[in-house]
Amino acid sequence: MLDLTYKSPNPKVIAGAKHDWELVIGLEVHAQIASKAKLFSGASTKFGAEPNSNVSFIDAAMPGMLPVINEFCVEQAVRTGLGLKAEINLTSAFDRKNYFYPDLPQGYQISQLYHPIVGEGEVLVEMGDGTARLVRIERIHMEQDAGKSIHDMDPNMSFVDLNRTGVALMEIVSRPDVRGPEEAAAYVAKLRQILRYLGTCDGNMQNGNLRADVNVSICRPGAYERYMETQDFSHLGTRCEIKNMNSLRFIQAAIMVEAARQIKIVEGGGTVDQETRLYDPDKNETRSMRSKEEAHDYRYFPDPDLLPLEIEQAWVDDIAASLPELPDAKKARFISAYNLSDYDASVLTADVTSAAYFEEAATGRDGKLTANWVINELFGRLKKEEHDITQSPVSPTQLGGIIDLISTDAISGKIAKDLFEIVYTTGGDPAQIVEARGMKQVTDTGAIETAVDQIIADNPAQVEKAKANPKLAGWFVGQVMKATGGKANPKAVNQIVSQKLGL
Ligand code: ADP
Ligand code: MG
Repeated sequence: MLDLTYKSPNPKVIAGAKHDWELVIGLEVHAQIASKAKLFSGASTKFGAEPNSNVSFIDAAMPGMLPVINEFCVEQAVRTGLGLKAEINLTSAFDRKNYFYPDLPQGYQISQLYHPIVGEGEVLVEMGDGTARLVRIERIHMEQDAGKSIHDMDPNMSFVDLNRTGVALMEIVSRPDVRGPEEAAAYVAKLRQILRYLGTCDGNMQNGNLRADVNVSICRPGAYERYMETQDFSHLGTRCEIKNMNSLRFIQAAIMVEAARQIKIVEGGGTVDQETRLYDPDKNETRSMRSKEEAHDYRYFPDPDLLPLEIEQAWVDDIAASLPELPDAKKARFISAYNLSDYDASVLTADVTSAAYFEEAATGRDGKLTANWVINELFGRLKKEEHDITQSPVSPTQLGGIIDLISTDAISGKIAKDLFEIVYTTGGDPAQIVEARGMKQVTDTGAIETAVDQIIADNPAQVEKAKANPKLAGWFVGQVMKATGGKANPKAVNQIVSQKLGL
């Protein structure tokens, strides 16, 4: 078996094969536009509805029905393009892509082959190890989704559910700039993050509202650089397209096995056939689905039912003005405004809700301390219950209250964790809880001194040991903390213990 341990981005070479190989990957991501109605009909897009309950005459392709463009969907496509720093085409057009499938009653899909609404853009993909890659976006076009054929409900019959027929998709096509499995997963994850920030797609891969076709080829070192210099695809290997991937984990696994398959073919003296393949997660292999079809196989032509789509620059400008702060900008701002590490800023900006929670809690407080509490305590606790931030029983105000009590030395770090647990499980105002339960830190040195004297008097043998080895003073600190129920100020305890032991 080939060892495909891939170090991204350098060295980009696959070890184990006879020769060194590199991977080249381009993705076509299908993102369902977050819209209540379909692209060309008013039917609902609600997920999980009774089969065939969200089907208009247009979706069912009844004779004489005419599609009417959904302006809201167009706006979301434009918003997405702007979010990916892409050029927006003020004129685009819809084409018919003809093919027969039982879940496509029209006999063609309405798509945008020749004049997509969005042109070239880019996505910054950070790899978590300090490296990053800029993946170029080639285009985004709008198209209709197909329905679903159901083959496993009856031994003799197949069924069709047209609820999804006609739902609006954005197909986001990347250039072949992704160089390994981890990068492919990171790219899809970043795209999903941006779409969710923009609110243009829910990005729920399990429900299939974000899925990717993954194009994979292999080449010898140097070939990709020659492609980049010339943009001439003949420098690259023949690609295979792995269809309909809806899990980041499977995307990575599929790329690995597909690359290994291609290397084996080429090193065995064969050639890779350009084809469409399916990944089987149970067998961890890709299987041929059909040889790659060309655009002319679909007899694309401009849809005569739809006029070219003309939009105005002023409308695009309005949408641009309404864009939210996007992940890269938010992360950079968190790093500089709150003095956060790259890692903390990434975690906190992973989704808008977490970012907003953090900002509310951090306002007027120590950013780094707040980040620690949000990431380690709150996120850790939520994860235990498989909850997300929207289900947090602790509000930013309550967490801020706990942080204030720490910052003013009213409670110790240890007590703060107990307090957090109380607030998490029973709610309440942190300051009031501390007051009511007598959790305030003992900073009164007299009280601490008394406790230290008592423990020294009770443990003469330990005192001798600690005098010989000052590291053992920690034992006394522990005993004092125990005696005071964890409420003694640890700094004061340390000082007094050292002083009393003569260290
Ligand atoms: P088609 O329309 O036949 O699917 P496209 O030109 O639209 O072909 O390309 C589809 C995807 O394949 C794009 O994401 C592109 O970047 C990618 N791609 C093209 N050539 C290669 C290659 N040699 N290796 C990997 N991916 C490739
Ligand atoms: Mg394509």
